[in-house]
Amino acid sequence: MGRLMPRICVVGAGLAGTELSWQLFKAGFEVSLYEPRFSNVFVDKVHSTNKCAELVCSNSLRSKQLHNAAGLLKQELRLCDSLLIRLADKNSLPAGSSLAVSREDFSRDATEAILSTKIKIIKEELKDIKSVLDDYDLIVIASGPNTSKSLSDSIKKIIGEEDLYFYDAIAPIIRADSIDMDICFRASRYSNSQQAGSEGDYINSPLSKKEYYDFVELLKSGDKIPLNEGDKGIFFNACMPVEVMAEQGSDSLRHGPMRGDGLIDERTMKVPFAAVQFRQDSFFGDLYNMVGFQTRLTYPEQKRIFRTLPGLKNVEFERLGSMHRNTYINAPRVLNNDMSLKKNNRVFMAGQISGVEGYIESIAQSILVAGFIIERFLDKKNPLLNSFAGKTAITALSNYIVNADPSNFQPMKINFGIFTPLSEEEKRKFCSSKKKFDRRLAMSKRSIDLMSKYFHKNN
Ligand SMILES: Cc1cc2nc3c(=O)[nH]c(=O)nc-3n(C[C@H](O)[C@H](O)[C@H](O)COP(=O)(O)OP(=O)(O)OC[C@H]3O[C@@H](n4cnc5c(N)ncnc54)[C@H](O)[C@@H]3O)c2cc1C
Repeated sequence: MGRLMPRICVVGAGLAGTELSWQLFKAGFEVSLYEPRFSNVFVDKVHSTNKCAELVCSNSLRSKQLHNAAGLLKQELRLCDSLLIRLADKNSLPAGSSLAVSREDFSRDATEAILSTKIKIIKEELKDIKSVLDDYDLIVIASGPNTSKSLSDSIKKIIGEEDLYFYDAIAPIIRADSIDMDICFRASRYSNSQQAGSEGDYINSPLSKKEYYDFVELLKSGDKIPLNEGDKGIFFNACMPVEVMAEQGSDSLRHGPMRGDGLIDERTMKVPFAAVQFRQDSFFGDLYNMVGFQTRLTYPEQKRIFRTLPGLKNVEFERLGSMHRNTYINAPRVLNNDMSLKKNNRVFMAGQISGVEGYIESIAQSILVAGFIIERFLDKKNPLLNSFAGKTAITALSNYIVNADPSNFQPMKINFGIFTPLSEEEKRKFCSSKKKFDRRLAMSKRSIDLMSKYFHKNN
């Protein structure tokens, strides 16, 4: 008698691998799960237990509130019957409006849940994808931001050296509607709007001589996150933190990312002494990233110092800058819409390595992968994956990672800026006010409405 269900190999029992293995097992697949930590072998310095779904740093799964995209994402995961969000709720600790968990109880319960199934545990590192490809119908790589060296090499052999990255150099992302456009102006370098026939793709914050040198001094004196010995190799010229450039010489930045050269403010027809450029970062133009502003300043210092820039006094940050080790792929270049690799569609990527950032994002992305695998093999069409595109937090994330600009791809946390904006009809239905808070809540109501109808119909 032939095999009944496809055999899936999941690599890594972190947040993504644990959730994914559970979801696939529940759907009836034969699942094998590779994880060296089960035999107390650690491929990184970040994990320290032999349990599933270890929370490596903070014990917070962020906001519980629905006007916050992280709150909505968790609510959607509850509707999708996420094992890990259920266990997080079960092991929650008092933390105001955030969902904090007892990390030991959370990981213990996750491990017990996995061990209570027939998932086959392989207590080893998977070093070479091709060596096991013939043993399974599909392989899902969920080996996280600290994927072992051998497996990284094996991934590179499939997707190409240039599309696997080993660290983030993240510049802050700001909300367009919080930039003061009476001070900032639109222009692309060396082409003013008349010549280009457009408004100019960038928003620019112009600095006078005094403003520039004052800003450089603030960067130099700002509090920075200390550098680990192992991270010292990550800076090279193209990705140097903005404060390190400032320390190299007071004029470095105005000859680098802050040069005013070629930027004409049409209101005055002047070229600023220096400028910070903001480049569109979301399909709908509500998010902009600060070009060349990757930084190791602490989060409070980034807010304090960057708000001194002209036109940014009241700016809202959707994501702050950071630089740290992180293995991830150039998802928009290498992934199919279903999160399998274009170069080999029997290999899927799940969790942080796929280009999302954060605990709950890694869980959510793995739920999507499970959905796509179920669709592929069991032929169950799932509107959660397709027709809700960008209207739910889960599909906003997947939309982002497969459709973002590949020339500047950086991992993403969930935020309302990557959602499909509310249509006029949806605004009438879910929100009568123009206040940002209400608009965000309306996005959540739209998502919960769509998902609840779907689950109501199917249960
Ligand atoms: C230092 C650090 C701190 C972080 N802090 C936070 C935070 O506070 N909040 C937050 O939301 N996010 C944080 N993140 C980001 C991220 O969300 C987490 O790393 C999250 O755990 C990612 O989930 P994952 O399942 O993709 O990877 P992981 O949870 O890291 O799981 C990957 C698993 O794969 C295993 N593995 C690796 N290589 C192999 C191999 N070759 N074969 C088999 N198994 C392998 C690893 O042992 C590990 O168990 C942090 C990341 C880092 C690196």
